[in-house]
Amino acid sequence: MKIAVASGKGGTGKTTVSINLYFFIEKFFNKAVQLVDCDVEEPNDALFFPGAETKREKEVFLSVPEINPGKCTFCKKCSNWCEFNAISIVKALKFAGVNADLCHSCGACLEACNFGAISEQNQTLGQIKYLDTGIGLGLTEGRLKVGSSMQTSLIKKVKKETNPNSEIVIFDAPPGTSCPVVETVADADYVILVTEPTPFGLHDLKITVELLLDLQIPFGVIINKAGLGNRNVYEFLVHYNIDILAEIPFDKSYAGKYASGDILENIPDEIEEIYKELIQKLELKLALR
Ligand code: SF4
Ligand code: SF4
Repeated sequence: MKIAVASGKGGTGKTTVSINLYFFIEKFFNKAVQLVDCDVEEPNDALFFPGAETKREKEVFLSVPEINPGKCTFCKKCSNWCEFNAISIVKALKFAGVNADLCHSCGACLEACNFGAISEQNQTLGQIKYLDTGIGLGLTEGRLKVGSSMQTSLIKKVKKETNPNSEIVIFDAPPGTSCPVVETVADADYVILVTEPTPFGLHDLKITVELLLDLQIPFGVIINKAGLGNRNVYEFLVHYNIDILAEIPFDKSYAGKYASGDILENIPDEIEEIYKELIQKLELKLALR
């Protein structure tokens, strides 16, 4: 069972929800649960497990084609075959180049070229780290190489590292609604959207809801920082008959614990109760048991 936790914008509490879900699913269900941090540009789930031990770490690479201008005839067959517009050929300038940020390593151009002008080069994407948090099957995080914009390729690789023994996997998605989010949620059985009851929250929620409807992935919404802002988010959700899974009230002391990376210690009883009810709802929806 794959559950992705996403939000249309940063700062809504998506990471807090992911971590608490992971923690409480283990506590209340005793399931083999794994947390996967797919926010590869800024992975910070590990900060909330200060005692976690790194079990393994590995560099990951992406094969990107390189064109040898000495062999290239500038026939453009490779660029015509490339579905991702990653190849530029300008015959007049004798220019042949690959944009690594657009390349999906599909290998089509290598097949296309009849002149042996294309070879593959490994480019570092980043690292994947496996941490023993003492909870379930631990935490897997992807960390993108600084300056790289190939989040989607790294997320794909991080997701492939899911422990085969896991019964429930929680993907903490990057914020927003762009390709890395689509890659994270694409094969999820259910998506939990985290929003806040503010005009910005509503604006981004609408875009994310549209995305999930397009992708035809079932989802529900958690309203974080409930009590702040206005009722417009509620009206939107009621109007479109979208499930409100939980409301998490804004709590200054809890926010302070989040800032200090200390949220799993001394979780207030009322917050624990909210997660218990949330997991019971998920249990009914997704037949988690
Ligand atoms: S198919 Fe080969 S020869 Fe033709 S433009 Fe591409 S790299 Fe050059
Ligand atoms: S490997 Fe695929 S995506 Fe990358 S440049 Fe070649 S055809 Fe395009």
